[in-house]
Amino acid sequence: AKGSGRGRYMAYEPHMDTRREEKNQLEADLKYAIENDEIKVVFQPVVNTLTRRITGVEALARWNRAGYGPISPDIFIPAAESSGLIDQLGLSVLRKACHEAAEWSAVKLAVNISPVQFRNPGFAAQVMSILAENDIPPSRVMLEMTEGYFIHHPERAGTAIEKLKQIGVSIALDDFGSGFASIGYLRRFGFNRMKIDKSLVVALDEGGRSLEMLTATVALARSLGIPVTAEGIETEDQAAILQLCGCDELQGYLFSRPVPAEEIAQLLDAQDAP
Ligand code: C2E
Ligand code: CA
Ligand code: CA
Ligand code: CA
Repeated sequence: AKGSGRGRYMAYEPHMDTRREEKNQLEADLKYAIENDEIKVVFQPVVNTLTRRITGVEALARWNRAGYGPISPDIFIPAAESSGLIDQLGLSVLRKACHEAAEWSAVKLAVNISPVQFRNPGFAAQVMSILAENDIPPSRVMLEMTEGYFIHHPERAGTAIEKLKQIGVSIALDDFGSGFASIGYLRRFGFNRMKIDKSLVVALDEGGRSLEMLTATVALARSLGIPVTAEGIETEDQAAILQLCGCDELQGYLFSRPVPAEEIAQLLDAQDAP
């Protein structure tokens, strides 16, 4: 900000020290939690739009911080990214998710990947060995990434995505519509699926031209042969609209919240019961 540059006097602000200390404490606690296996994984079902059967699950990290209670991944994932802990955290989520998914024969497994992990040159090899350890065929696995890295480092991102596709996993463009990614990205980087951000679904209730935008977006993705999942579906009205738009898969509280692995097993048993 103006006035805070080099050589300028900066007023002493005690709250800045406090904030720094809080951040350090958060990172120290997170490091401890990762090393002591306190990061858990829950799974949210993804359903086929027409049949409403579970076709896949998305793994989501959970941290119950001692003395504080649950901390949102929107807080601890960025903290892990900025403190060098994300590689370890991300691989541990992938390992746990694969370990559970090995019990659920056919369903696909989606795992979120931070751009910080993605730019590590050894990442594809690490993914491959975790899948092999758990006997998970790569064709069952989808890695979800947001657009940031693709915008800022398109060349390197292109190379990294190629490596992953070579080992046989699919790649989804996550949070579509929440940032600057355009349909062009889907084709340029060879994404296998687009996930529509929940902000676009919520916007439907506010009217405007969001229905037209959503319809056009999904139609364009589909014309490129790229299937679309809509996230954050909370009501039957939203589900009906996204079905009309042509989304083949839906995800949201309407179908299920993210739940522990045992509950996924029960949900799958229930839908296969005669
Ligand atoms: P995301 O990948 O977009 O995941 C979807 C988020 O929407 C999840 O939040 C999920 O609980 C929430 N959600 C699902 N259905 C609904 C609904 O119907 N309504 C509403 N309001 N919310 C819904 P969560 O679990 O808090 O995760 C937040 C974000 O943190 C994720 O967004 C993802 O970007 C990140 N994240 C979570 N786990 C991991 C991880 O293991 N690795 C990385 N790199 N990021 C993760
Ligand atoms: Ca995701
Ligand atoms: Ca998302
Ligand atoms: Ca997100």
